[in-house]
Amino acid sequence: MTDHYPDKENGTKTRSSQPPRKKSPHVPFGDMRTAPWYGKDIISVRQFTSADLDYVFGVAHEMREMVERVGTFDLLKGKILASLFYEPSTRTSASFTAAMERLGGSVIPINEVTYSSVAKGESLPDTVRTLECYADVIVLRHKEVGSAAQAAKYAKKPVINAGDGTGEHPTQALLDLFTIREELEIFEGITVTMIGDLRYGRTVHSLARLLKLFNVRLNFVAPELLRLPLGIVQELAENGTPANYYEALSPELIARTDVLYVTRVQKERFENPEDYDKVKGSYVITPETLKQAKDKMIVMHPLPRVGEISMEVDDDPRAAYFRQMEYGLYVRMALLAMVLGKA
Ligand code: ASP
Repeated sequence: MTDHYPDKENGTKTRSSQPPRKKSPHVPFGDMRTAPWYGKDIISVRQFTSADLDYVFGVAHEMREMVERVGTFDLLKGKILASLFYEPSTRTSASFTAAMERLGGSVIPINEVTYSSVAKGESLPDTVRTLECYADVIVLRHKEVGSAAQAAKYAKKPVINAGDGTGEHPTQALLDLFTIREELEIFEGITVTMIGDLRYGRTVHSLARLLKLFNVRLNFVAPELLRLPLGIVQELAENGTPANYYEALSPELIARTDVLYVTRVQKERFENPEDYDKVKGSYVITPETLKQAKDKMIVMHPLPRVGEISMEVDDDPRAAYFRQMEYGLYVRMALLAMVLGKA
């Protein structure tokens, strides 16, 4: 599909570097031009209002029911996803592939960019303009902040940001929020405590920005070196979101927490390995840590974990991190269906 997608300036897409092509009078069979996210990129959580979130979660909920009932169905039959990963991934790439295949579509996986023309020095704009000749939607993970926005500028087809360096990871934050909704049933008045690498952890950046839309209290626990970036601290303050900053996870803090969001220290982002050594293993959640916690609270983690949550916590019903991965499938199914005009 080329010019069927609406124009980018108004939430729509144009490509400046090419002569305008004749508009197609039709959209591909079954596409809904009126679907609110049809043809749009998903680059940042800032694009979502709370009404949008209701919409995404409503569709994700339907996806869950369909998967539980029939497993796979043909909503995206004939559609192709290009899955372009310049950084390692297990869950994000596997769940996007599973999402596409459960909806009857197919995937061009480019996970090992060493074997693609990227290794020959091809630029990101050229790579995405290549892939959109073959695919209907592009999912991109890249080490540079702003890479997804750059790819979206050049691609006419929807681009979904699957993590741009230390920037954002919007689909993870959407699935994190969906997990909270499914597990706790409310957002209003809850206390979310985020702990670990708040500086480099892109999932934290996206989730904090999304939570700002609700009446929540936020606690951030990190060693000085890994504090939340000032820009996000200011965004929260300007929004009037109650936020507190700590270096230690005290029993009192745990006792007030409804969602404990644990993150990995992002070793690959450190310029100086000695700095990593100073902060690695700063916090480890054990059954002992959870002794003071409420009965109805959850422990989340975007994963992979490298020791921040001990395996003895896994059998605690409050450990939601494995269920969180499954919710990710439904949210990614919803997002693919939405940008491809099927929901
Ligand atoms: N999987 C998440 C990410 O890609 C979290 C992590 O890697 O620690 O950002």
